[in-house]
Amino acid sequence: MDQSKIDVLRAKEVPAFGHLIDGKQIPASDGATMDVISPLDGTVLTTTAAGTASDMEAAIASARAAFEDGRWAKQPPAARKKVLMKWADLIEANAMELAVLGVRDNGTEIGMALKAEPGSAAATIRYYAEALDKIYGEIAATPSDILGMIHKEPVGVVGAIIPWNFPMMIGAWKLGPALAMGNSVVLKPSETASLSLMRMAELALEAGLPAGVLNAVTGEGRVVGEALGLSMDVDVLAFTGSGATGRRLMEYAARSNMKRVYLELGGKSPNIVFADAPNLDEAAKVAAAGIFRNAGQVCVAGSRLLVEASIHDDFVAAVTKAAEAMRVGDPLNINTHIGAINSKVQLKANLGFVDQAVEEGGNVVTGGTQILQDTGGYYMAPTIVTEVTRVATLAQKEVFGPILGVTPFETEEEAISLANSTVYGLAGAAWTANLGRAHRMVRGVRTGVMHINTYGGADGTVPLGGVGQSGNGSDKSLHAIDKYVNLKTAWIKL
Ligand code: NAD
Repeated sequence: MDQSKIDVLRAKEVPAFGHLIDGKQIPASDGATMDVISPLDGTVLTTTAAGTASDMEAAIASARAAFEDGRWAKQPPAARKKVLMKWADLIEANAMELAVLGVRDNGTEIGMALKAEPGSAAATIRYYAEALDKIYGEIAATPSDILGMIHKEPVGVVGAIIPWNFPMMIGAWKLGPALAMGNSVVLKPSETASLSLMRMAELALEAGLPAGVLNAVTGEGRVVGEALGLSMDVDVLAFTGSGATGRRLMEYAARSNMKRVYLELGGKSPNIVFADAPNLDEAAKVAAAGIFRNAGQVCVAGSRLLVEASIHDDFVAAVTKAAEAMRVGDPLNINTHIGAINSKVQLKANLGFVDQAVEEGGNVVTGGTQILQDTGGYYMAPTIVTEVTRVATLAQKEVFGPILGVTPFETEEEAISLANSTVYGLAGAAWTANLGRAHRMVRGVRTGVMHINTYGGADGTVPLGGVGQSGNGSDKSLHAIDKYVNLKTAWIKL
C-alpha cells in the first residue's frame, strides 16, 4: 500500500450522494439530506439523500418494471456474465478509491478495508458471474410416460439491506448471486456507511447493467427500510444486521406479502483454547486479531475467549501483550491495526458494556476506555475482561466492539456447554492438536462456521450462515444461489 496515494485520496472532497433509481442519481423526493459524519474525526464528510417511503416505492417500481420486461432476466447467461465480470473489473480498477471512501465513512483500518471491501466484493461478483452458466435445472426420476423437469427461476425483486461494518463485501454477498440469477435488486445501505456501496452500485451501470435492475436508496432504516420490508412488490428480503431489525423484517413480511426473509445476524462467537493447542503463542496473536481487527465490528468476531483453566493466566497475559501491541488510530495510516468505532452512539454503547461487566464482577485487564479524544474521532482501546461468568452480559449479549470476555473451563464437555450457552450460533474456533477432539468440537459447537487452529479467513467458496438467533440461510458459496431462485416443476405427460 502506498501511503502517499491514500493521502491524496483522503484529501478529496466527497460529493453529495443521491439515490440511484432507474439508472439516475436523484435527490430525495422532498429534497431532504442526511449528514455523513466521519468517525475518523467527527466532521461532516458529505450528505446523502434522506429517503422517503415514496422514494423507496419508486425504486421498487423501477426494479419490478425491469424484471417484468426481462431486460436483464431474459438476457442469455453469457451476456449477464459479461456484464458482471466487467463490474468486478471496474471495482478492482477503482479499489483504492472505493476503499478510502469507505474508510472515511465507516472507520475500518485501510489494510483490512482494501482486502475485505473492494477486494472481496470484486471476487464475489466474479465468482457468481463465473457460476451463472453452470447452474442447471434437473430431470426427475419419473415413470417412463412422464417428464418431470425442475427449473430454477429468478424470484423477481430482491430487497437487500446492508449494515455498516463491511458494506461492499456484504453488499456483494447479496448482489452477486441475486443479479447472477436474473433478479432485480433494491439496495438499502446503512445510514452510517453508504458511500462506497453507492459508488459500487454506480459502477454496475458503467459495466452495462441495464437501468432499473439495480436501484439503491439511502435513508433511515425505520423509513426506507420499513417501506422495503412492507412492500407488496418485493419477493425476497436479504438482510445483514442486528437481531432487533431482523425481527422487524419478519414482522413486515407477515404483515405484507409473506416475502421470504433471509437473515444474517449477530454473534457471540466462542474462541476455545485447549492446553494442547499446537502453538499457544500463535493462538494468542490470532485471538487478539480475531476480536480486535476493525475494532471488533465484525459479525464473526471471537468475542468470547474460553481457556482451559491450567493455562488461563499465561494465555490471558499473551493475548493482552498481543492486544497492547496493536496500534489504534487513524484508519487511513497504513501502519494502523485498529481503526475507529463507526459512530458516537456505538462508542457509547461499547463503554456501557465495560461498566456493566465491572458491575457484574469482571476484571478489566487492559483497555476499557475511549482514547485519542483530541482527534475528534471515535476510538477505543482494545479491551480484555476476565472473570466473565457464563450468564454475564458480556458472555450473552453481542457488543460489536473491541471487547473480549474471558471464561475458564476445566473439561472438553464444559467447553462445549459454555460455547453453546448463548442464543447465537454464527462462528467459533477450537485450538487443539488432538484430531479427535478437533472433530468433536466441530460437531459439538452449534454454529455456522467452526475454525480449527485458526480464526477467520474463510473465503467465498464456503457458506456463512448462522443458526439460532444468528440467522438463517447462507451468504457465499454456490449455496447462496438457492435464496434467489424459485424451483418450478414441469410435469409433462408424454
Ligand atoms: P442494524 O440492524 O442497525 O442495521 C442494518 C441495516 O438495517 C441498516 O441498513 C439499517 O438502516 C437497516 N434498518 C434499521 N432499522 C430498520 C427497519 N426498521 N426496517 C428495515 N431496515 C432497517 O445493524 P448494524 O448496526 O448496521 O450492523 C451491526 C449488526 O450487523 C451486528 O449485529 C452484526 O453482528 C450484524 N452483522 C452480521 C453479519 C453476518 O454475516 N451474520 C455480518 C455483519 C454484521
